[in-house]
Amino acid sequence: MTADHPEVSLVVPCHNEAENLSALYERVLAVMNQTEKSWEMICVNDGSKDDTLDRLLALHHKDPRVVVIDLSRNFGKEAALTAGLDHTRGDCAIPLDADLQDPPELIPELLTKWRDGYDVVNAVRLSRKGESWLKRASAHAFYRFINRMSDIPIPEDTGDFRLLSRPVLEALSKLPERRRFMKGLFAWVGFRTTAVYYHREPRLSG
Ligand code: UDP
Ligand code: MG
Repeated sequence: MTADHPEVSLVVPCHNEAENLSALYERVLAVMNQTEKSWEMICVNDGSKDDTLDRLLALHHKDPRVVVIDLSRNFGKEAALTAGLDHTRGDCAIPLDADLQDPPELIPELLTKWRDGYDVVNAVRLSRKGESWLKRASAHAFYRFINRMSDIPIPEDTGDFRLLSRPVLEALSKLPERRRFMKGLFAWVGFRTTAVYYHREPRLSG
């Protein structure tokens, strides 16, 4: 821990995730203890209609490393993630879904690649347990379409779950786009990039 900022910032967009937050916190806590890195977990409440905000505030009171941002309404995941990334203070940031589909247990592998000198470490899904044939097929078609349209390929089977170094975060924060598709921007900014692989679990609850 440097005096005034943590080494790792986790960023979690949260829309109606009340039932998932304590499990998320426990798993993050166990993993981050194991890494021995200082950390913060920035949780962005994106206009939830359930108890998400109260649960987040309770976590913050228990553990001030949990930082809460409360958006004024539901802006959608891309905007929530952008708001969270803009508030990170860490030397790197890791976006993470609240529903535990992005396993926190992969974080040590992301950090190892970062230590090896990579600025972007993508977490690539090997399977989509619990997702229908239709969802898998439509996701595949989506990437084929996007990658035909664009010069910068967006890696298929990669969500927002990845590690971004501070130089990447600075580059992202300078982009003027107001309506953001983060996966596209993550690929567009470039930098030394690698990947680690994992099996995607079904959404925990909700
Ligand atoms: N999310 C959000 N705002 C929204 C929709 C979703 O912040 O309007 C969050 C949600 O709470 C979760 C992440 O974005 O942490 C991914 O959402 P979801 O699990 O619904 O998406 P999928 O797993 O289908 O990609
Ligand atoms: Mg999900």
